[in-house]
Amino acid sequence: MAGAGAGGIDEAVLDAIDRRLLDLLQRDFPLNARPFAALGERLGLPEEEVLARVRRLKGPEKGRLIRQIGAIFDTTALGYRSILVAMQVPKDEVDRAAAAINRHPGVSHNYQRDHPWNLWFTLAVPPDEDLEASVQALVDQAGDYSYRLLPALRVFKIGVQLDMEAAGDISPVDSTQGSRATPAAVPSARDRAFIRELQEDIEIVPQPFARVAERLRVSQEEVLAWLHEAKAAGWLRRFAAVLRQRQAGYVANGMVVWRVPEDRIEKAAAVAASLPQVSHCYQRPTYADWPYNLFTLIHAKSREDCQAIAGRISQATGVSEYAILFSTKKYKKERLKYFVSTQEVMTSKSHSLYAEAQRYMPGGVNSPVRAFSAVGGEPLFIARGEGPYIYDVDGRRYIDYVLSWGPLILGHAHPQVVSALKKAVERGISYGAPTALETELAKRVVEAVPSIEMVRFVNSGTEATMSALRLARAYTGRSKIIKFEGCYHGHADFLLVRAGSGVATLGLPDSAGVPEGIAQDTLVAPYNDLPTVDRLFSENRGQIAAVIVEPVAGNMGVIPPEPGFLAGLRAVTKAEGALLIFDEVITGFRVAYGGAQALYGVTPDLTCLGKVIGGGLPVGAYGGRREIMAMVAPLGPVYQAGTLAGNPLAMTAGIETLKVLAEPGAYERLEENSARLADGLRAAAGVPVFQTRVGSLFCTFFSGERVVDYASAKTSDTNRYALFFRAMLANGVYLAPSQFEAGFLSLAHSDEDIERTVQAAEAAFAGMGG
Ligand code: PLP
Repeated sequence: MAGAGAGGIDEAVLDAIDRRLLDLLQRDFPLNARPFAALGERLGLPEEEVLARVRRLKGPEKGRLIRQIGAIFDTTALGYRSILVAMQVPKDEVDRAAAAINRHPGVSHNYQRDHPWNLWFTLAVPPDEDLEASVQALVDQAGDYSYRLLPALRVFKIGVQLDMEAAGDISPVDSTQGSRATPAAVPSARDRAFIRELQEDIEIVPQPFARVAERLRVSQEEVLAWLHEAKAAGWLRRFAAVLRQRQAGYVANGMVVWRVPEDRIEKAAAVAASLPQVSHCYQRPTYADWPYNLFTLIHAKSREDCQAIAGRISQATGVSEYAILFSTKKYKKERLKYFVSTQEVMTSKSHSLYAEAQRYMPGGVNSPVRAFSAVGGEPLFIARGEGPYIYDVDGRRYIDYVLSWGPLILGHAHPQVVSALKKAVERGISYGAPTALETELAKRVVEAVPSIEMVRFVNSGTEATMSALRLARAYTGRSKIIKFEGCYHGHADFLLVRAGSGVATLGLPDSAGVPEGIAQDTLVAPYNDLPTVDRLFSENRGQIAAVIVEPVAGNMGVIPPEPGFLAGLRAVTKAEGALLIFDEVITGFRVAYGGAQALYGVTPDLTCLGKVIGGGLPVGAYGGRREIMAMVAPLGPVYQAGTLAGNPLAMTAGIETLKVLAEPGAYERLEENSARLADGLRAAAGVPVFQTRVGSLFCTFFSGERVVDYASAKTSDTNRYALFFRAMLANGVYLAPSQFEAGFLSLAHSDEDIERTVQAAEAAFAGMGG
């Protein structure tokens, strides 16, 4: 029977061995370490010969007869629910509507049919997704046309006829309302990962399961054991080859629908189902504008044949009211992909843009965290931002708590900033010569930040910290510096040092390409750990130029300084003749107008700024006491320069942003809203999380422990964070794609946005089981 998979291909193309091989591949692909060797034993062929034949059967030479070899799972057993949907779409809109619908990976079949109800698709969703809501969302995207839900009320027959294809092409995705009992076992996150991998086409190599194991980061034995368990659990129908339907075969696909009196439906169904050309037979609901309750799918060689078969059924059943809906265009017909995340569902344009981006840029991004590696899935490509929202290229809106990683404290495209920028750009983009704008922004910074008497603008936070440390080394005549584990100060070589736990005070490079010689002058202490700082000073007396610290750590989640920590750093640096540098790239104009130094009442010698002071354009700055800053060229011997430093656009965006922030009540409002958000998130969790917040910086650590430093931050369950992140994204909330990043709030976020975010979090946590 399965051997008929050769279909219309003639003997010259498929020899007897090919046919036997296809037969075996479709029935029971060996689930062992060397499956092709095992097949070879049964066929009396060496392993290489089997591999070569399978490769040929997948290639153009043999009409790409094998579509794929992989696990075929049972829709119902996995807890999926599915539905057939009919839509009425204006003729010239059908292609577009179908394309919108096809983006959902749960859509396995999508056809245009010649009937007023002209677009027909099947959708299946995982256990935790609302089927009706998903249909509604798809219909909205397709263009909000009339639609009817047609779940299978009874299943009389499912594609048993076309044996070749039954393995996949017409697998019974529609059968979830059928009589099969749902097994007790619900696939766990681990099972889902296995399912996701194993439903894909295996590689035609001697040990295909070893490749799968590599991707799953488990052993080959675990993969094979899992497959056997999945079979026992009823999830796995079989592991097999799926063949392509031959063009030469059944070309006419008619959905014949019947209006059958309720009491005769079983009989009529039995008659229809008995015909070999009827592959599927279901009972579905009726509506005022859809009277047909029995559905049959007829595969025939021509429309005429199909009509003749329908006529025969009509005669035999006495049911005269029926319609034949021929498919006029196939938009989608594929095997259902299980447990593909909703986020992936929602990012198809993003998906193709991402694929293209990866061809031209490392990882497709210009800053690593944007690639979503820490949370799985793929990054969204953003089309625009407005107030608290970003919109992706697929038109979806998200409440944004990343805000370009902090700069957009006023929200996206603030009208005052945009209007000033438009005017500025018309006056010329950059001059490389002084402007009054630089002085204006410098003045605002000096007036706001306690430690800054003079400032130098640069183009990024990285430049700011790098330059500040050069200056500190010049000023003190010393080389060593102290930084804290988990604090990020940009990517200058000597600052890419974090040190692992066991060697927490040893300067080892954190990135390839950083010579140890450069890293060795960087000493590392745990955050909030004064005794270690004291020890480093006593071990390196007279050699330490500066201590650089994020006064609120914002690059390992958000970790506030413990009481006395900043003051202690101030005291020890003063006593030891070293400079204290606050890296306020995140906290500057964020946790207070004067930054963390104003909030905590500790004044450093030098301060680094970035993010907010550029209002979303590339800016950094470093500043401090006049006598120190006087060492910077051209006044002094410390060289530092920049082609676009202090450029008029960045200065303009910064000035306008600070103007709005200086208005009365701005920080009070940020404080109030941020508190409500953080409290709401903590309450929504229902399980122990460690929620931190300083002003409009916040973080939900998925840890039951108090988080005070890098080591305790690392106790967070990053897998749970990833689940949370994805659920929030699916609910329209864009959080940082990593547990170890800060959340940012803006003045544009309204009460309603916060309320919606908390509700989304409640739903997300509920979906995660608390
Ligand atoms: N310092 C801190 C505290 C930061 O958070 C960052 C970036 O996030 C930097 C420095 C580096 O800034 P940039 O990315 O603008 O180079």
